[in-house]
Formats: sequence, C-alpha cells, structure tokens
Amino acid sequence: MAADLESEVQAIDKSLLECSAEEIAVKWLQANDLQKEVYQHLAYYVPKIYCRGPNPAPQREDMLAQHVLLGPMEWYLCGEDPAFGFPKLEQANRPSHLCGRVFKVGEPTYSCRDCAVDPTCVLCMECFLGSIHREHRYRMTTSGGGGFCDCGDTEAWKEGPYCQKHELNTSETAEEEDPLVHLPEDMVARAYNIFAIAFKYAVDILTWEKENELPGLEMIEKSDTYYCMLFNDEVHTYEQVIYTLQKAVNCTQKEAIGFATTVDRDGRRSVRYGDFQYCDQAKSVIVRNTSRQTKPLKVQVMHSSIVAHQSFGLKLLTWLGSVIGYSDGLRRILCQVGLQEGPDGENSSLVDKLMLYDSKLWKGARNVYHQLFMSSLLMDLKYKKLFAIRFARNYERLQSDFMKDDHDREFSIADLSIQIFTVPSLARMLITEENLMTTIIKTFMDHLRHRDIQGRFQFERYTALQAFKFRRVQSLILDLKYVLISKPTEWSDDLRRKFLEGFDAFLELLKCMQGMDPITRQVGQHIEMEPEWEAAFTLQMKLTLVISMMQDWCALDEKVLIEAYKKCLTVLMQCHSGFTDGEQPIVLSMCGHSVETIRYCVSQEKVSIHLPVSRLLAGLHVLLSKTEVAYKFPELLPLSELSPPMLIEHPLRCLVLCAQVHAGMWRRNGFSLVNQTGVSMMDPNHFLMIMLSRFELYQIFSTPDYGKRFSTENTNKDVVQQNNTLIEEMLYLIIMIVGERFSPGIGQVNATDEIKREIIHQLSIRPMAHSELVKALPEDENRETGMESVIEEVACFKKPGLTGRGLYELKPECAKNFNLYFYHFSRAEQSKAEEAQRKLRRQNREDTALPPPALPPFCPLFASLVNILQSDVMLCIMGTILQWAVEHNGYAWSESMLQRVLHLIGMALQEEKQHLENLSEENVVTFTFTQKISKPGEAPSNSPSILAMLETLQNAPHLEVHKDMIRWILKTFNTIKKLRESSSSSPVAETEGNIMEESSRDKDKAERKRKAEIARLRREKIMAQMSEMQRHFINENKELFQQTLEELDTSTSGVHENSPVISDAKLTALGPEQTRVAEPRQVVMCILCQEEQEVKVDSRAMVLAAFIQRSTVLSKNRNKITPDPEKYDPLFMHPDLACGTHTGSCGHIMHAHCWQRYFDAVQAKEQRRQQRLRVHTSYDVENGEFLCPLCECLSNTVIPLLPPPRVLFNRLDFSGQPNLTQWIKTVSQQVKALHLLQNEDCASHSGHSEKMDQLQLPEGFRPDFKLKNPYSESIKEMLTTFGTATYKVGLKVHPNEEDPRVPIMCWGSCAYTIQTIERLLADEDKPLFGHLPCRQDDCLTSLTRFAAAHWTVSSLSAVQGHFCTLLASLVPNEKNGNLPCILDIDMFHLLVSLVLSFPAIHCQDFSGVSLGTGDLHLFHLVTMAHIIQILLTSSTEENGMDQENTNSEEEVAVLTLYKFLCQCTGSALKEISSGWHLCRNLKAGIMPFLRCSALFFHYLNGVPAPSEIQVNGANQFEHLCSYLSLPNNLTCLFQENSEILNTLIESWCSNNEVKRYLEGKRHAISYARESNKLIDLPDDYSCLINQASNFSCPKSGGDKSRAPTLCLVCGTMLCSQSYCCQTELEGEDVGACTAHTYTCGSGVGIFLRVRECQVLFLAGKTKGCFYPPPYLDDYGETDQGLRRGNPLHLCKERFKKIQKLWQQHSITEEIGHAQEANQTLVGIDWQHL
Ligand SMILES: [Zn+2]
Ligand SMILES: [Zn+2]
Ligand SMILES: [Zn+2]
Ligand SMILES: [Zn+2]
Ligand SMILES: [Zn+2]
Ligand SMILES: [Zn+2]
Ligand SMILES: [Zn+2]
Repeated sequence: MAADLESEVQAIDKSLLECSAEEIAVKWLQANDLQKEVYQHLAYYVPKIYCRGPNPAPQREDMLAQHVLLGPMEWYLCGEDPAFGFPKLEQANRPSHLCGRVFKVGEPTYSCRDCAVDPTCVLCMECFLGSIHREHRYRMTTSGGGGFCDCGDTEAWKEGPYCQKHELNTSETAEEEDPLVHLPEDMVARAYNIFAIAFKYAVDILTWEKENELPGLEMIEKSDTYYCMLFNDEVHTYEQVIYTLQKAVNCTQKEAIGFATTVDRDGRRSVRYGDFQYCDQAKSVIVRNTSRQTKPLKVQVMHSSIVAHQSFGLKLLTWLGSVIGYSDGLRRILCQVGLQEGPDGENSSLVDKLMLYDSKLWKGARNVYHQLFMSSLLMDLKYKKLFAIRFARNYERLQSDFMKDDHDREFSIADLSIQIFTVPSLARMLITEENLMTTIIKTFMDHLRHRDIQGRFQFERYTALQAFKFRRVQSLILDLKYVLISKPTEWSDDLRRKFLEGFDAFLELLKCMQGMDPITRQVGQHIEMEPEWEAAFTLQMKLTLVISMMQDWCALDEKVLIEAYKKCLTVLMQCHSGFTDGEQPIVLSMCGHSVETIRYCVSQEKVSIHLPVSRLLAGLHVLLSKTEVAYKFPELLPLSELSPPMLIEHPLRCLVLCAQVHAGMWRRNGFSLVNQTGVSMMDPNHFLMIMLSRFELYQIFSTPDYGKRFSTENTNKDVVQQNNTLIEEMLYLIIMIVGERFSPGIGQVNATDEIKREIIHQLSIRPMAHSELVKALPEDENRETGMESVIEEVACFKKPGLTGRGLYELKPECAKNFNLYFYHFSRAEQSKAEEAQRKLRRQNREDTALPPPALPPFCPLFASLVNILQSDVMLCIMGTILQWAVEHNGYAWSESMLQRVLHLIGMALQEEKQHLENLSEENVVTFTFTQKISKPGEAPSNSPSILAMLETLQNAPHLEVHKDMIRWILKTFNTIKKLRESSSSSPVAETEGNIMEESSRDKDKAERKRKAEIARLRREKIMAQMSEMQRHFINENKELFQQTLEELDTSTSGVHENSPVISDAKLTALGPEQTRVAEPRQVVMCILCQEEQEVKVDSRAMVLAAFIQRSTVLSKNRNKITPDPEKYDPLFMHPDLACGTHTGSCGHIMHAHCWQRYFDAVQAKEQRRQQRLRVHTSYDVENGEFLCPLCECLSNTVIPLLPPPRVLFNRLDFSGQPNLTQWIKTVSQQVKALHLLQNEDCASHSGHSEKMDQLQLPEGFRPDFKLKNPYSESIKEMLTTFGTATYKVGLKVHPNEEDPRVPIMCWGSCAYTIQTIERLLADEDKPLFGHLPCRQDDCLTSLTRFAAAHWTVSSLSAVQGHFCTLLASLVPNEKNGNLPCILDIDMFHLLVSLVLSFPAIHCQDFSGVSLGTGDLHLFHLVTMAHIIQILLTSSTEENGMDQENTNSEEEVAVLTLYKFLCQCTGSALKEISSGWHLCRNLKAGIMPFLRCSALFFHYLNGVPAPSEIQVNGANQFEHLCSYLSLPNNLTCLFQENSEILNTLIESWCSNNEVKRYLEGKRHAISYARESNKLIDLPDDYSCLINQASNFSCPKSGGDKSRAPTLCLVCGTMLCSQSYCCQTELEGEDVGACTAHTYTCGSGVGIFLRVRECQVLFLAGKTKGCFYPPPYLDDYGETDQGLRRGNPLHLCKERFKKIQKLWQQHSITEEIGHAQEANQTLVGIDWQHL
C-alpha cells in the first residue's frame, strides 16, 4: 500500500505541486469577475487531478484537490491562512444548542417513552447519557443511517430537551439572534461570493445531462478518454451483476465483486476506461446480458472530464458541509445562497434544483447532498422553516419522482419528510399556510387511479408494477401520520379551516374505500387471500390509525367536531343514497311489534368488508358523547337526519357475512361499535327483527313450532347446521352490542379501565411474557399500550430462570372480571381461555360457572342499549331456544347456542342487580327482567316461563356442563328477589310459589344427586392430597430424584462399577504401594440389540459413541500459526496448550458390530439421499459423523470399553524394587541398548543375535521378546478405529493407521481431556471426585483405559522410540539432541505419554522390576521437573502479602532448592529470600498438575478416591499427595534422590532457551495457568452497539460494516456476512466468522451478532445455529433482532451457561441438537457468515 502511494506521488505533475493556494487566492481577491476566474481555474485543474486512469485513486485525488482546488478557496474565504482563520471562526462562534449529530448506519439511538413527543424523536448516545431520560423508560434502536439527534429541540421533548452538554449553550444564545453579527463584514461578503460559486458549480455539474460539453466551463483537455459507468439498481442481485461483469469487461471474479460492492455502496462505478468505442462495446454487452427478464442495468458511457468534474462537485459539497461546521454564521450564509431564487423564478434555487433532480442522481451523490441539507438547512431554525415550505410546495413532484425511482426510500429526498413533518410547529405551519394535509391526501389519491364504476378503488388484476407502486404509495400514509402525530393545543380559524379542508379530502379518500372490493359468498368455500384482496386490506389497516388520529384532532375542538360530524354524515348518505334501490320493502312483525325494512339476502348478494366512513362516523358519534358535545349543543347536530336503519345496514351485512364465513378476524375491526351507534337510536324490538331478517332467521323465530320441523328425519342436516351457526353468531353479536362498554364515550370508563380489561383477558388465556402481551394489546400512534401503568394492579410478575422468559400471571382476584365472550378473543383464544378458567376454578374447588362480569354503566347517549336484553323479541328468542333444549330433540339447538342464551340471561340479571343496588330515591327501576322471565308465555303458545324452563334444565342429565351456570342464574335470581323485597316496591313476590313447586318435584332426585356430589368431592380431595404428598416427597428428595433420573438417562450399563468397600485408612493410586482392588465384573447392555454382555479382554468389543474435536479452549496463545499437519511432530505438547484434541461421549454403549451395522446403514442412506435430493444433514457422513442412535448426540467415532489394562501386565512381586536413581540407570541402559539395536538394524540385516551378545544387555532385558496381544480381534479392531480417528481429527490429516504418530495422538487426547475436566471442576469450585456426570465418568474411564491399551496394536519399536525420546527430554542421552527445553513442555502431557508408553519397554524386562515401580518413578521424575519449571517461571512478588514467619522445614528446603537453581543458572534468577512465598507459589502452581494426575491414575488403576477429596475441605493438598504416593513436603523428593537429581537439574538449567528466558529474551508460560473465560461483556447492551457502530470494515477503507460480529472467545470484532471480508479457506470462499474460527477456535466459534443481538455458534464450514443472547430486558426477555428496543442488560447466569457450553466442548453438540430440532437451520450457508 505504502509503495503504491509513493509511486503515485512520484507520477504527479510537478506543476500541480508547485501551485500556491495563497497566490491563487490573492488573484481571486483582486478579480473583477470572480466566477470566471474560479471556473477557469477549475476547468484547467480538475481534469488534471481526477480520473486519470481506470481506477480511482482517492488518496492522491484528495491530497491534490485539497492543495490545488480547496486550499485557494479556504484562503479566499478566511482572507488569511486557514490554519489560523478556521480556529478563529470556531472561537468566535456561538454554537447552536441543537446537537444535530447525523447518525451513521448501526449507531445506537435512544427515545424516551415518557418525554419524546413522538417515537421519531431520538438522541445520540452521548446526549442520551447526559440527559435526564436515562432514568426514564426508554427505547433503544440502531439507526439505519440518516436522521439526526434531536437533542436541544424543544419541540421534540415534553421535558428535558437538553443534555448537559447542550444545555450550556442555551443561556447565551437567544433564539432569534442573527448569527451573522459574529462575523466580520468583509468575511460575510467573501463567504457569499465563494459559496455561491462553489454551490452553483456543484449543482450544475451534478445535474448536467449533455455528453460533450460542460456547464460554463471550457473543455481544456480534449483528450478522448471515456468511462463505461455502471449504475446501481434495486432489481438485479449481486450475483447477477458479478456474473455479467465477468462476461462484459473480462475481469476476474474478485474484480467483479469489487465493482459490484462499490456500485451497491456508492450507486455507480466505472467498469471500463478507454476510447468511446471500447466503452460502448462493454455497455452493449452488459445491457444485452441483463435485459432478458427485467429492465437492463443502467450503463452510461461518459466523457472523463465530466466524471472528473462530478467527482470534484461531490467533494465540494462535502467541503461546504465541513466549512459551515466552524461557524453558525457561515451556515446561515450557505442556507441563504442555497435558497436564493435564481433568474428563472419558482423552483430555480439551488436547493430546489437538487431536490427535483434527486431521483436521477446516483446513490453516492444523493447521500452527500442529503447530508449537506441536514447539516445546514435543518440545523438553522430560520431556514428550516423556509426549506420546509419549499419541500411542501414540491411535495407532489417529489413523491411522483419517488414512485418512479427504484431506490429505497431511505435514499430518496422524499424521506426527509420525517425530519420536517414531525416538528409540531412546522407541521402546523404547513397545514395552515401550505394546505399540506390536502396536498398529501390528493397526491395519494392521484397515485391510485384504478376505480370501478362507482368511483371506488379497484385493486383487482394488479400488475407487478402496480403492486410495486402501491407499496411506495403507502409511504404517503406515513407522511399523513407524521403531520397528525402532534395534536394542536390551540386552534386558530385558519387551522380549523385548513384542517376541515383536509378532512374533506380525507372523506373523499374514504369514500373511495367505502364498499370497495365487494365479495359474494360462495357456498361452502372459503375466501382466499388473493393478492389484490390483500391490497385493499392493507390499505384499510394502514388507514385505521389515521382515522383514529383524525378523530383525536376532532375531539380537541367542539366546532371542528360538529363540522366533521356533519361532513361525515353527508358523505355516508352519499355513499348509500340508493341503499334501498331495487330491493323490495317488506314489513316484519313479531310479539306485537312491527317494522318496515327491505328484503336482502347477504348470502346471495355482494357485500364489502370495507366501511371506513361508517367507522369514522361511529367514532365521531362516540366523541359527541365523550366530549359531552351531544348534550351541550344538541341543536347544532343533525341528529334528526340520522337514519339508524341505514347506519346499521351495511355493518350488519358485513357482520352477517363474517358469521357466514366464520372469519373471526373481523371482530377486531370494531363494527359492533358502529352498530351500537345505530342501535342506540332505535327501538330494540325493531332492531332485533331487522337483524333476524338479515341473518335469514326471521322465519324460524317468528313462526311458533318452527323447531318441531327439525325433528323429522327428512330435514336437510346441513341446513340445520348452518342455521344453528347463524343463531350462535347472532346471539354473539347481541352480547357484543350490549356488553362492550369499555370505550370512553360508550361506557362510563376511562382509558385505564379499557387497557386493564384487555390485559385481564389476555392473561386469562395463560400467563404471558411482556412482549407477547404488548403484541396482543392495541398500540397508539406512539407505539404505547399504556400497559405499564396498570399491569401491577392486575398481574404478578414471575422472573425467568436460566432459560425461558419472565411471565405475568393474572391476580386471582381479577378472575371475576373474566368475560367468556370478550370482544377481542379469536375463536381459538376463547376456547383456550374457557378451558383455563374452568380448570382454575376446579383447582380452587369453586363451581365452574363462568358468569358474565358486572359491567360499568353506559353513557347516556348509549343507555338505551340495555333494553335489548328485556325487549319482547329478545325474550322470545331466549324462550324459543330454551324450549328447544327442554324438548331435547337432537338437531334444533346446539350447546353453544344454549351457552350464549344463558350468558345473555346472566347479563340481564347482572344489569338488574346493579340497577337495584344503585337505586336512589328519585329513580324508578325500569329494568324488570326478573319479572318478565317469571311470566309464562301467552296464548296461543302457552309455553312455560323462562324461569321454569331453567329449573327444569338444571337437572337435565344432558346438560351437565351448564349445570353450574344455571345454578348461578337461579341463585342470582333469588338474590335479586331479596333485593327487591328489601326495597319498598317488590313486584316479584308472585313467582315464589312457582319456584318452590318446581323444586319439590325433583326433590328426591336432587337429594340423590347431592349425595353423589359429596362423594365425588371427597374422592377428589383425597386424590389431591395424595398428589400433594407425592410432590412434597419429590421436592424434599430432589437431589436423589435428579440423580436417579440422570443415571437412568446417561448410563445404560446395567452394573456400574460399584466402588468396592475399602477402609478409608489410606488409598494409594499408583506404585508398589498401590491399593489393590478387586475389579468387579462389568456387565453392560447394548442400546441397539438390548443384549447384555460382560466386558472382558477376549469377548466381543463393546463401544461408546464418542465425539473427537480439536480444541483451543485451554489455549494461551491464539495467534500460533498452525504447522503443516503432514510434518508436524506432536510428541511434546507446548505448555501454551495452543491446540488439543478433546474426546467427549454421551455414554451410550453398543456392541461394536451392532454399531458397525448401524453406521453402514446410516452412511448408505445418507449418500443415496444426498445424491437424490442434495439436502444437507446436521452431521457430515463423509467425515464419519453419525448421531448416537439413542440420544441423537453428534458423534464421529466409538471408544472401546476395556477392563483395567494394567492388571494384565503388572507383576506382583515387590521385593527389592530399585530406587529412582537405580531405576533411571537401568532404564537408561535399556534405552541405550535399544538405540544400538536400532542402529544395527539399519546398518545391516545380518543376524543380530550375535551382535546382541556383544551389547552387554542389561540384566533380564530381552528385546527380542514378542508379547502376545491379549485382546480379542474385535477389540483390537476398535482400538485401531478409535486411534485412527483421534489421529485424523487431531492432526487434520487423512487416516493412516500405520503412522507412528497415532499412539501419540491417543495419549494426547487422554491428557488434554483430563485437563479440560480438571479446569471445569476447578472453575465451578467442585471437588475433584464424585461430581462428574456419569457420561463424563464413563468417557474418562474408557478413554484412559483405551490410551493405555493402544500400544498393543501399534508398532512396538515406534512406541519404544517415543518412550526413549520422551524420557530423553528429562534424562538426556547422547542420542537424542535438540529436544525442547523443560520450559516448553507441558508436564502433564509428558507424564501421560511416558506412563502409557512405558509398558512397551517394560514388557521385555524380566529383571523383576514391577510396572508400578516404573509408574511411580516416572511420576516422581516428571513432578520434580514440573517443580523446577514452576520455580524458574514463578513471578513472585514478595511485598504486599502477609507473611507468616514460621520458617518451617518445608520453607527452608524450598529456599535451599531455589538457591541451588540460582547457582545452576549462573545467578540469572531473581533473588528471593522468602521461603514462605516460594512454598505458596509452588503449591498453587503444582495443584492443577496433581489434580490431573490423581484423575489419570484413578482412571488408569481403578483405585477409588479417598473420601476427603470427594468433598471440598481443608488439606486438599496433603490428601492428594497421599493418594498419589508423594511426600507432603514435595522438596523431600529432591533430597531423597539428590545423587541423580543435581545432575539432571544442572542439565535442565544449562539449556540455552532457559538462559534466554532468564535474560528476558523470550517468554514462557508460568504456573498455575489461569482458566480461559469468554470475554467480559458490558452490562448495558448499548455499549456494544456503540462499539460496533464505530467499527468499520477492515478491508474496504473505513466503510461501516453491515453485520459487525464480536468473537466472544477473543474479543475481535469482525465484518461478517459480507462480500468485502470473504477470504479463501481450503479452496472455498468463506465469511469473516468462519475464517476467524479456524485461527481462534480451531473450527469452533462463539460470536455475538451485535445488530441482531443474537449469539452465533459455528463449527466447521457447514454447521451453525443461533442461540439466545445473554442480554435480557427488565421483563426477563431477550430481544433477538432488536425489534422491541427495550433496554437490555447482561444476565450473568445465562452468559455463564454459554461459557460452560464452550468449556465443556458442547458447542458442536448444541448445534447438532438445534439443527435436528429445526431443519431450516441446516440449509443456511453458515460458511458465508
Ligand atoms: Zn446528540
Ligand atoms: Zn445533547
Ligand atoms: Zn424522559
Ligand atoms: Zn448389540
Ligand atoms: Zn447417546
Ligand atoms: Zn476469536
Ligand atoms: Zn468487510
């Protein structure tokens, strides 16, 4: 990069560098015609700087432009060196109190839910943190780019408009002060001049359309170079563009990606440079290639001078933006220049020109000038207003341009509406002065031209283009919303007039919707969601909010409300003027009432569901009631003109239609409201009759005995069924009309009551999380539900656990408010709620009746609605249905019909009860339902009274479900009767006898029933008690229970190793003193064939499913370069543990042959499937992966189960065992002999038996002895299988069972796995033994035993060779030079390898030395080496720690040892005088090693662990030492073996690397190594968002990354899911995350996708899943995708859980489970993330 730049700089024309900005500026200052001078300068120099070749050179261009072009302008402007001029300006400036920070893409923005005037008012992070709102309820989002901080805008905030920083400026600057007074006069003049010229130049060149000419500039350099310019569109995909480019301009894929990326980002990019023909040729190829299906890509051949000037034009605009940043005065001058009208009058100002040219500009140019507008025009209070007027005047044009433009709205100037219209004062000004409301609505109407004959919108047969346009048009509704969002506090006559004018336009719009898209019901068919149908529906949904905002405005002014009401009524009458046209008038009569209406069959004629005018009128009518205008000015209202039958006609038709198609969704639309309005003005009997007629049920209820017709066999069952459904729906509608009173204005309630009721009913279904509840509740235009203020009163919050979410539960006392027929329930919700509530009542041992709740009274305007309940027709309907139920013929009635009738009766009783309770002196009770239902029917029917029928039904066996409800009704009836009696007038007395009589008739029956009931209750009680006891028991014995469950779950091995009972006296894990344990017989069961088998050396192999993976979890060096796997020698593990091999298992056991068969079948199946369907699976069959057949855990191999391997080779003769010194000597001799033999072998193949004699073999050593392998064939095969798998995965090489590195990898995996488990236990503060889950215990046992047995299937000489080399690292010999120094060896890996390879030598040793002796000496030797390692690297800080001055023997000994070390290293070691500190360090440093060793020998030799290390307690160190056969004072080891140890220590210390380390020339790991953790995350999620927004893509020069993703392992931020950061990995293009996993996590990665607030797990290139983030909001919920924007805070427990998954190596397993559960995850291209 640097070199490139240099060569570029060298190539620069000398004349350019010699330009002097000062001289040019002086010349300009003296010029008569400044514009001419400047233009000449630009015409000459711009083409010399810009566009000198095929590729842009931004750095060079910027440098030269600043020097030659901008420098002079700055000099001119300042009149002196700008280096002094600008700071002076800045100092003199009185900055505005507006923040105005323009948001970058992805930057966090904050909105206060308490104080923001609307949700579009936002703060930048800095302002937010310094504001009062951080203590309020706020919402946080990430910006999509564009938009700016509203801090300081007093109109945006109800409270606290300034943050601390911007508050400072307010006291000084008065609002109206002209900022120009702070500038010297001559500077003002110069600024005008230069700004005018520069701005004009930029605008002219950017809007220039001619090809061979420049605006007012000469073409100085008439060279014939052109660019082939490719422009962005939103039609073609990245892939299409890349593919086309490769073809058209013959570039590589990389270059094509580069072009495409720039085109997408900047909106255009030249793809070819050369003469016209050359460029034109490329153009035609591109156009030809992309024109097949869609419109072709836009390509233009442009002269290089034009491109050059355009580039500089953009640069100039950016420069203007930065210069005005120095001074508010300059900013004002620029605004003035921009808005100054040119010679061509209207629309000729520079700002207008740019705006009107917007849709023709490319993306990059738009961005630049939008930004300039935001930092100039929108920051200046005076000019913001002027600009707003320009914007409003051009509104129609701009919107039309936007409709044609294919760029997203965020790149269009039309998008600025949000910045302007949401400012309340501007919006109001634009409404009154520019008639904005009308303009928006008219523009909207103009774009929807398709109408039917009646002038209504028609969306049928929309083409794709029209549909696209329709989507764009919807943004106008958004603008309308912005304008209306803040409601006026004061009304001027102008505002009234203009608002009503807008209201007129709005009514015109609604008129086009009223009755649009009518549909005819097709019998037996559902209405399908066709696209055009959806369009109408979308429109209605979008306008719903606007309608309610219009109503809100009307509510604020009585005059406006009255006018609006009148206008609305007029329009409605126009809509339905001919509603009786062609329809036959008829007269209906029932129960002595009659009404005139028309004949109309919904089922046969067209009905529309779109009735917005009716809705609006109903809403306004309610407002008349709410604002009491109806009572104050009745004379002003056209109430008499209302025709209630006309009002209800269409909504009623619509509801009937809905009833007919069972479309529950329409209920939300508020038509009952519309009906309530109409019905409240009608005679209830008339209404009911019309309704019966519209439901086509009039015949049934007006004809007595109609029901009897159903009893005959030949009735059409379908017709009966349909009628029943319609009756149910009609009853439901009546319940709605009478019962829905929870809107202010209809019932005597306030908004709080309304929201409380909503919450109660949602929570009646089930407990809900906050977000679910929010979704279920209606939101206002500020996206608020008002829930927070009331939720505490009706619900309790339950916090979430480690998974799941926090839930709200309904308070028990609120259950009485439950209404089964709640208006907003869907059918499914209703039945769920019913079930839940009945269950709840049964649990509380209450009766299960769900009576209607007591309701608030109606407002006077609607008060007459209750009379429906006691109207004659209603009573007739109720009576008829009850009669059907009493007569009990199968067809005529349904249960839910009866249920609704009972509900209605209940409602009537509640109503009457309330009337009586609120009775005051002057009131007469007119509601006499009880009286009416006690009367029997009159002749001719002579039916029994409703009450009598209820009495009968109470004991009807077929109505068991409703019995409780009927009983409740009768009880309430009696209560009311008593109430009546107590009050003076008691007209109900007559009924008493009736009840008594009825009751006595069934007395016997009732008594029997009562007894049965008591018995049932008793039974239930006992059952409940028992289950309670059971639960108690489980709770108390929870641990026991869980344990058993776990055992059942993980270990199918029938007999687990019962730890043999051994006295706790002293347990020793290794060496000659090793505690002998009789190994119990181990019988296990195969999960595949269910057969049991004993684990024996010579039987068929049993195996555990296992998963091997490379791991960097313990790594202390993530930057290590992975060596070439083919040549890498893994014999010694470096103590940085950079990459290990981990083995895990789910613990499920199979026969080897059963597994083999299963595995082959899986493989065959998957291969077939993949060939055929090309589908992926969650596991990679080709890599040997499979799922455990029992638990579906991802596995890639199997481990054989073995009996303890040492028993086979241990000789039990312990007499005369050598000490360490002797033993080392003997082994050294044996090693030497082996070396010699090997040399002999190599030298000649002559008979070696002769030579051996000369060798003087050590006593009892027989290198020719060949051991017979004790294992069965099947076990041997499995040993090889698992060994090869470890080798293959661990080294990432092709399998080769002969490779000498196979056994090394096996030992390494054993050591590494033990280390990870030791760390896990230590981190969780768990004792070493007794707390591992069975699966890990099983896995470690088999892994250790396997590793110990593996040498029997590998080459003996290879293993012997490994042992020799390993030993040589501690006991040097002349053969093995160049081994790692002891600082660079992980001692635990060394120990495991030494101990496990030793039997290969020991098996040829017949001198009587026991294997246990060898183990012990090897262990002691490695331990001592580790002690030296610790002492050498210990970084003891002597000061600052409390020291106990004990000077014990131990401390003295350590000090002595340390001094000896000092001596050996030539006094390079830091001097330490405190033995106490050394001791402490040593013990702490060696502890992990001892713990690992204890685990290792425990699993190797099967000696149970002493009880002391199965719990966390004191003296762990001593107990460990004793178990490991070590002295408590470790330095004793050195004293006992000083003879040989002094030599060894000297040799260790003399290593060159040790010297370099001590001289500080290299680094070494010190002990104890700390556990790796995931990175620390901030508590507040917005810190992360901010961090990510400051992060730019490392590859595309400072551009913002689209998907910034944080590696939770190392903290690196990555630019994920983007072409720019793709790299090649093993021949494939992968995204930044996948690439990172290979260096950081050896293929496994844990990331946080910051924008999405989502955790991402990756494994390899094909596996991945998303995981809930560890951030929760106050309601205990995550916010994946950051859609809700509640503040998020870190949940430490959940983060720990993720960390544990990582430490346990369970990430891959987790991904596997997630993918199995959700197949769509398998299809995602994880590698591109
Ligand atoms: Zn700010
Ligand atoms: Zn601020
Ligand atoms: Zn606030
Ligand atoms: Zn089996
Ligand atoms: Zn399993
Ligand atoms: Zn990382
Ligand atoms: Zn990138």
